[in-house]
Amino acid sequence: MRAVDLIRKKRDSGELSREEINFLVSGYTRGEIPDYQMAAWLMAVWIRGMNRAEIAALTEVMLHSGEVINHSEIPGKKVDKHSTGGIGDKTSLILAPIVAAGGLTVPMISGRGLGHTGGTLDKLEAIPGFNVNLSLEEFRRVLRKCGMALIGQTAEVAPADKKIYALRDVTSTVENIGLICASIMSKKLAEGIDALVLDVKTGSGAFMKKEEDAIRLAEVMVETGKSMGKKVVALITGMDQPLGRMAGHSNEVAESVEVLKGQGPADLCDLSLDLSAWMFFLGERTKSVEEGRQLAETMIASGQALEKFRQGIRLQGGDERIIDEPERLPTARLHVPVLSSASGFVTSTDCQQFGIALAMLGGGREKKEDHIDHGVGLEFHKRIGDRVEKEEPLATIHYNSEAKLAEAKNRIAESYHIGQEAPREKHVLVRRLIGA
Ligand code: URA
Repeated sequence: MRAVDLIRKKRDSGELSREEINFLVSGYTRGEIPDYQMAAWLMAVWIRGMNRAEIAALTEVMLHSGEVINHSEIPGKKVDKHSTGGIGDKTSLILAPIVAAGGLTVPMISGRGLGHTGGTLDKLEAIPGFNVNLSLEEFRRVLRKCGMALIGQTAEVAPADKKIYALRDVTSTVENIGLICASIMSKKLAEGIDALVLDVKTGSGAFMKKEEDAIRLAEVMVETGKSMGKKVVALITGMDQPLGRMAGHSNEVAESVEVLKGQGPADLCDLSLDLSAWMFFLGERTKSVEEGRQLAETMIASGQALEKFRQGIRLQGGDERIIDEPERLPTARLHVPVLSSASGFVTSTDCQQFGIALAMLGGGREKKEDHIDHGVGLEFHKRIGDRVEKEEPLATIHYNSEAKLAEAKNRIAESYHIGQEAPREKHVLVRRLIGA
């Protein structure tokens, strides 16, 4: 077999067999197939798509590129959540400690920034000293001690996703149902979990802009998880505007701590409680989702979730003092407001552009080897439905370099659409798909 023939086959709309997909993925993971051939194949897949059999084969091959963890020595249910990503989506940092404090184990394998969206691993690395590269043994040790651990794909677990994910990030090959399903489910099925809650985003800041595409992605992922004997639920949630008020790595860690302290913006608190509730229910910690939500609220109100986050940071080598002293997180030296050019109401946002602007300021990667500036960020002052006056700040940019500031500022200003009629703000939870 030759990679060049398989690229041509997909380019010409052919269907690849399991053996052919295995040849490409295993060869790439071992370093025998170069980035340029894998990138060409990913683009062919992005354009031509994959059928269900190809998606299932890709997921399986990626899952078995590394170890499938067995956590049976840790008592109790193991549950996790994964979001398809968006702007300001920081719920993993909030619900891992809530659910671990509530008695379940959360062995979370996350990703870095992808396309215009931020990644949990990059956010955690804003915390000085925090190590997302634990060995399997260390991962288990932290889980046994505190019930939660957050790591990245490793050479041992989901190594194919580690490499393919980083390549997709910089080759515009992210927004494809088959590639997203294989990426997410290969990581999650390798974690040794009993149950999984999927947060599938839809809207202008999501990879799936249309609700019907988000539903299709959710269905494929739920079906994949169920076929492997897991309980899986997908919630379809809105990403028409940023989640919470903050985007950028340090900003999002600080806002997550606010939520764990019982403060924080309503949309972010609400979604975090909804997702935690489903995790408690699927993990059989509570008899209903409603009871799960009450337990999540109690974990926040009692301070137990915050203490769990503190313990988790400490066990992964991070500086836990950021909980009480957020100024210990890397911060940007300079701030500038983005002003509205008109009076009226915010009718919609082109939310993806906020993520692109943030990446331009150093908060994302344009090439695989780029470093992230954890201190840069965006603070959103206006949401859909809000009244705004001409020259009033819509957002504030936290930045360190002037290099692409003017372009980023324009993008942000143009991504707020101002009209004369106030639209009704949509609820974040668009609909539920139950797969359990
Ligand atoms: N999250 C992932 O882990 N992978 C994707 O492809 C998209 C979101």
